[in-house]
Amino acid sequence: MIEHWIGGERVRSAETFTDVSPIDGRVLTEVARGGATEAEHAVTAAKKAFPAWARTAKAERAEILHAIADGVEKRLEELAITETEDNGALLRSHRRGVMPRVAHNFRFFADWLVQLEHKDFDTRGHTNHVSWDPAGPCALITPWNAPLMLATWKIAPALAAGNTVVLKPAEWSPRTAALLAGITADAGLPDGVFNVVHGYGPEIGEPLVAHPDIRRVSFTGSVPTARRIAAAAAANLTPLSLELGGKSPLLIFADADLDLAVDLAVEQYDNAGQVCLAATRVLVEDSIAGEFTERFIAKASGLTQGDPRDEATDIGPNIHERQLAKIDGYVQRALGSGATAVIGGGPNEDLGGLYYRPTLLTNVAQDSEIVQEEVFGPVLTLQTFKTEDEAVAMANDTPYGLAATLATGDRDRADRVTKQLVAGTVWVNCFFVRDLRAPFGGARQSGIGREGGTWSFDFYCDLKNTVTAP
Ligand code: NAD
Repeated sequence: MIEHWIGGERVRSAETFTDVSPIDGRVLTEVARGGATEAEHAVTAAKKAFPAWARTAKAERAEILHAIADGVEKRLEELAITETEDNGALLRSHRRGVMPRVAHNFRFFADWLVQLEHKDFDTRGHTNHVSWDPAGPCALITPWNAPLMLATWKIAPALAAGNTVVLKPAEWSPRTAALLAGITADAGLPDGVFNVVHGYGPEIGEPLVAHPDIRRVSFTGSVPTARRIAAAAAANLTPLSLELGGKSPLLIFADADLDLAVDLAVEQYDNAGQVCLAATRVLVEDSIAGEFTERFIAKASGLTQGDPRDEATDIGPNIHERQLAKIDGYVQRALGSGATAVIGGGPNEDLGGLYYRPTLLTNVAQDSEIVQEEVFGPVLTLQTFKTEDEAVAMANDTPYGLAATLATGDRDRADRVTKQLVAGTVWVNCFFVRDLRAPFGGARQSGIGREGGTWSFDFYCDLKNTVTAP
């Protein structure tokens, strides 16, 4: 049974919901199903704990964050397997990439806090001193595709800044957040500084966001939910950070290293395509499209689909039958409108359950839903272009602006194209290289605001300028 974690105590709700593994449909646990009462309880605990935590010296806060990172590292295997059972992502990625990054999130923001300073400046002999003051209780709402990584990307800077936190993890993957609660307690984080509540978004997420004592809302998830969250936060004008969906392009020019380009394209099936940053629109220069497609098919056909706990597996299941139906709906409607499935095109019947075949669709129109809307599954589209201008126009022609990836052997072209792309992150001849010092976020409907490095502290703090007379 997964309970809420409020004020340093496990708390039950009258109702529960069932957490099921996407790997094989096995029931994992019952989870407390909270509502407005639990939201109120958690915000009260976070508000009560705030003054003492905000006053705690930076070095001491940093030390506790490092102790949390130690706890994550100590329990890395348990966290990795728990999250794989919960959301179906590869165990090998959790072991070697995701969970080490979870620990790094805490270490990075602990260290960044300690060296965070703005150079004082002088106005006619008066000193201007800029400080980052803790803002208060923060509501953090997170999705299921990378549960603990995305949650701790928010929790770590929020806590480092001296804020208290109420986390509402996604209902399809609540288990590692519950483990993290225990890790924070073992690390000596005072009661009420970190709280976790569980339940369905509209039932507990919305009252949490709308609470007048919440000073920041940071949300990662879909655009429709973001609209509701923004409306709920509007009543109190609570500042928001929104990290939303994407429909990112992968632009492959004829001068690119074709092996690299194929690798970059196949990499977009990672996490069964459930990655906000995934470059799901492959745009290839006309003259190399034939050769690219042949090599792509050869490489993608070598991917192993199966149980994500198996080290040899490249693609696991999708998260939920609702998500699988949504993915297949997009693909079948595209096929019905004249698209061709170069590979895939439906669920993997050999495996059954929630496994969807990695799919590449051609003959898709720029204004079709399969090109314009986020599918969030292992589905790529392939379109061709003749000129650089055409490539840029196609790349920018969706409601999103989260990321873009280019493959080109020409640095000048890379500079020219990058300047014109609407995207929070552009990768040139690489993908998914992330550094926590860099700003992260999206343009257009991919989000509002940036987090990362000092940008995180800018968001989670009230900036203050103190002017002192000589
Ligand atoms: P979602 O919007 O359905 O849910 C996300 C979270 O919001 C869940 O915890 C859910 O319970 C909660 N929620 C739902 N309704 C709510 C409401 N009315 N009020 C408050 N909270 C509510 O998204 P999802 O399906 O869990 O995640 C997939 C989406 O997340 C995709 O669009 C993906 O691109 C996006 N995403 C973005 C990033 C990024 O960094 N930009 C990273 C990962 C995922």
